Amino acid sequence: MTLALGCIADDYTGASDLANTLTRQGLRTVQTIGVPADDLALPEVDAVVVSLKSRSIAADQAVIKSRAAAQWLRGRGAAHLLFKICSTFDSTDRGNIGPVMDALRADAGDAMVLVTPAFPETGRTVYQGHLFVGAVPLNESPLKDHPLNPMHDSDLVRVLGRQSRIKVGLAGLSVIAQGPDALRNHLDSLVSQGCGAAIADAVFERDLETIGAVALAHGVSVGASGLGLGLARALRAVGRSEPRPVDATSATPIGGPAACLAGSCSQATLAQIADAERMMPVLRLDPAALMADEGEAQRAADWAIARLTAGPVLIASSAAPDQVAAVQAKFGRDAAGHAIEQAMAGIAARLVDVGVRRLVIAGGETSGAVVDRLAIPGFLIGPEIAAGVPVLRTVGAREGDMLLALKSGNFGGPAFFGEALALMR
Ligand code: ADP
Repeated sequence: MTLALGCIADDYTGASDLANTLTRQGLRTVQTIGVPADDLALPEVDAVVVSLKSRSIAADQAVIKSRAAAQWLRGRGAAHLLFKICSTFDSTDRGNIGPVMDALRADAGDAMVLVTPAFPETGRTVYQGHLFVGAVPLNESPLKDHPLNPMHDSDLVRVLGRQSRIKVGLAGLSVIAQGPDALRNHLDSLVSQGCGAAIADAVFERDLETIGAVALAHGVSVGASGLGLGLARALRAVGRSEPRPVDATSATPIGGPAACLAGSCSQATLAQIADAERMMPVLRLDPAALMADEGEAQRAADWAIARLTAGPVLIASSAAPDQVAAVQAKFGRDAAGHAIEQAMAGIAARLVDVGVRRLVIAGGETSGAVVDRLAIPGFLIGPEIAAGVPVLRTVGAREGDMLLALKSGNFGGPAFFGEALALMR
């Protein structure tokens, strides 16, 4: 199998977003959790997205991890690598976008790297090198107060220039609007001026298609899911990937018992749990009891196991804001969050032990804890249950194939749990 596209994502949720975008563009896509083992058996796929947690770690560590991911992807035949960053260019003057870009560019032997975080569908556009979040420049958006990566400058040529050893130029919209040939000529002239990277303006998806078409001839590009979209369309245009129906996850039904776990306390999740109560047994966990007694999670799993043959069940720690505040005041926010996540992961592991192969999880951190505990190497991305929440089929899991839905925060409509189970056969 030869990959048409290899991607290295600097965080998990960004990786999921990219994998889902590529799938919607017709690329059969697997997302892996970390750099996979050399012998990971992959189904026939067009793209692999390696999820790292490298956005906010030390730059030298981010470089090491990204290089390892790049090596794995190249080993599977990926001719082009997309280094997936946040569409708000989350980084500091120390990195990590610049140092990782420099290393991947050097390894690929590229004279020029195209860089754009634009993703018009979500309001991220780049004009004259300045990143806009909706109607405002990045430095006036809420990102100016981000706890880890406060963004005080919307001029990405300057921002990337401070992080990189390479001279950074601009490929402006007036060039990109003229199409791939004009962009190629412009990049040649930037190279002759000593530039090795260019921030590419993009306001519309057609701009990303132009950037994607040109980037495919390079070894590496840097961008968000929008550039993924541009690359996917460019691959289709040159016949390097065939459009595929998004039926990957349902090709062979999994069957058997199904369960839902909710650790998200978002308004949407609370409404979804209330809705699920009309169609399945729901157990509401008492966080204080979970914190006090390890047996409590065990008892919750036993409650589920006793009911699974009759149909799906839901176990929820989710609570209204005043109750969450009370638990956090008593145990501390991080300690309570971690303990409840670990309890949920323990329940999931027990359910999988007794044969559950279909799991719906509500909560981003909760999902992360469950995926870690089950040591799942990767997922094949399937159809969307709700915008941004696809059905996932595990790849390389020790228990064999499972279907998962991982929903963070406010995603999904009121009937989410039922809709998820209906698609997870
Ligand atoms: P979301 O995607 O909605 O942010 P997460 O799972 O990422 O959901 O985060 C929810 C956090 O709240 C987790 O750390 C979880 O363990 C914690 N939590 C869940 N239930 C409660 C509760 N009743 N009280 C306090 N914290 C809770």
